[in-house]
Amino acid sequence: MNGTCRWFATGVLACAMQAGSAANAVDDSTLSAVGDGSDWPAFGRNYSEQRYSPLTEINTDTVARLGVEWVMDLPGDRSLVATPLVVDGVIYFTGSFSKTRAVEAKTGKLLWEYDPQAIEHAGDRLRIMWDQNKGPAVWGDKLIISTIDGRLVGLNRHTGEKVWETMTIDPRRAYYITGAPKVFKGKVIIGNGGTEQEAARGYVTAYDADTGEQAWRFWVVPGNPADGFENEAMEMAAKTWTGEWWKHGGGGNTWHGITYDPEFDQVLIGTGNGSPWNQKIRSPEGGDNLFLCSIVALDADTGEYKWHYQTVPGETWDYNSNMDIVLADLKYGDQTVKALMHAPKNGFFYVINRENGELLSAEKLGKVTWASHVDLKTGRPVETAGARYEDGEELVWPSPFGTHSWHAMSYNPNTGLVYIPTIEMPAVWKDDKVDFTAWQPPHFFVNVGVEFGTEDTPADYGEAFLVAWDPIKGEKVWKHELPPQWNPGTMTTAGNLVFEGRADGKFVAYHAGTGEILWTIDLGHGISAPPVTYSVDGRQYVSLLVGWGGAGLIAGTLAAQHGWKYGVHPRRLYTFALDGDAAVPPSPPPAWATPVDPKDFVIDDALAGYGQHIYAQSCFLCHGGGAVSGGNAPDLRESPIVLSKAALHDVVVNGAKRMNGMPRFKHFTDRELDALMHYVRKMARKASTAVAANP
Ligand code: CA
Repeated sequence: MNGTCRWFATGVLACAMQAGSAANAVDDSTLSAVGDGSDWPAFGRNYSEQRYSPLTEINTDTVARLGVEWVMDLPGDRSLVATPLVVDGVIYFTGSFSKTRAVEAKTGKLLWEYDPQAIEHAGDRLRIMWDQNKGPAVWGDKLIISTIDGRLVGLNRHTGEKVWETMTIDPRRAYYITGAPKVFKGKVIIGNGGTEQEAARGYVTAYDADTGEQAWRFWVVPGNPADGFENEAMEMAAKTWTGEWWKHGGGGNTWHGITYDPEFDQVLIGTGNGSPWNQKIRSPEGGDNLFLCSIVALDADTGEYKWHYQTVPGETWDYNSNMDIVLADLKYGDQTVKALMHAPKNGFFYVINRENGELLSAEKLGKVTWASHVDLKTGRPVETAGARYEDGEELVWPSPFGTHSWHAMSYNPNTGLVYIPTIEMPAVWKDDKVDFTAWQPPHFFVNVGVEFGTEDTPADYGEAFLVAWDPIKGEKVWKHELPPQWNPGTMTTAGNLVFEGRADGKFVAYHAGTGEILWTIDLGHGISAPPVTYSVDGRQYVSLLVGWGGAGLIAGTLAAQHGWKYGVHPRRLYTFALDGDAAVPPSPPPAWATPVDPKDFVIDDALAGYGQHIYAQSCFLCHGGGAVSGGNAPDLRESPIVLSKAALHDVVVNGAKRMNGMPRFKHFTDRELDALMHYVRKMARKASTAVAANP
């Protein structure tokens, strides 16, 4: 509504003085309502996290006319996974390493940008890979962003000037932030990740949204009982742990799923997996290990515990409950339940009464073998024999990618359906070679307490689907096969549409009721972010960030098959409207690595084996399983740097590529660098032998 006047319900005529000044407030009342759809002011559009827009100009009849209105190139960006926010015709979004931009929605004109210099602040945290950031929050005139190095930064959203900055973690520990901050009642809340690289103890912290001053903190798992408990909830939780769990941190880190519930004035947090993953190390005599893998309801003003529901008691498969928590009124007969819906990694779709945490239903969303079902009387999963790899190696569905990861699901109150991107693939679990008693937690490298597979993942190992789910009946209504395996979040509208990008670069609109594909455009690069919709001067727009990225890219060939090779394809912000007639700008064709195999390089198998161990701890999160890059970082099998000991030393030990995001490992010895070289050469030779056999 820039440069225009409008009447408010109070009878006041407000006029925006200049482009960029606000007419629409962003506060508790706007974020509690569906509104007129002109803004997309919060991560899940409003407090409900439904990602539902009431706009109807783009609908099942008109969507065929949808076209590109404008495109903004984002040179320098890599992973783009954020939900852009739109207020008063201004788009706000975070790119790689939380670089933040404000853009005029009608034209794509850049209004301001802010770089929090996350690489400079990150230090060893760069080893945790993720340059991704899931987006900003708006409260009043503030835009609040999070950074991988653990900060929250409050900006003036009209100018991009920094107003406050708060460090939310102990920077000496391997905690990090990739999640979007969430706002409620003048506060902003954030959690963190770290269970794979640290003796991590999860927590969330609420701050004053205008000043950054801490309001309250809630710890997810208990600390050492000898130090005393922070509250009664921690005392209760400690009874569900065994051994000396605090030495391993315990985990439960809340790196995503946080929803404010205005009707019960509570904050619902979705908590993480154990630190380490393997419960035999973390809590050797078993126990439920509260509040891992749970939804915990907290008093919004004080952060005090209200109730919880645990999806995976005593978890041991990285089956965290960090996925989005969506609020809706669901009708069972003539009874309306204030429900929350949640599809965590473990493969079940949960409906829970959010007044008290009572489980209403839990049905399988895809192939799940770790549990046969969830007992509705006890609320507990019924596990299958062998699933805890207690009898040795076990193949279990789903994998640590989860049946549903953080890619947002959306809920359309008109169809009553939830639209969820799913992944169906198994993982092999074994811990025969892990010494439980001698095990030490990691510190800025990966060690999860199982023999973790860092081999390549074959191209056909995982399937992916877009599922339309009836939460009341607990069943699929329609589904579409998607390209493997890492597809982004969905958005749904009163125009009876569902929008979703895809791993293969296509952006698709579906009929929300039937699943019929009504519109498709090829954007020439893998999509990892969810779309948003809004209107300016009465015209409806759809915006989408395009930049392949995120943790799914560690899956080697499975992720690399689409050809989104590191550094090849331009990153962009697209905006669409009816009769938009701009062209999709050119993008290079899919590209794959060409492994280099100097025949005179004599591979020492023992050294390569040691190199694989180092690679698994410190390299594969970015460079990919089996040294096959899924696109997050260069494919080392073709890198000239790995062919030269001096160059490798310069990059790995001296940090020569630090500003590209390549962390420094200054403790690596010559033997370790040699071992890495031998491992990478072995993987390159394997690839060129395979090509020679199957040209
Ligand atoms: Ca995890």
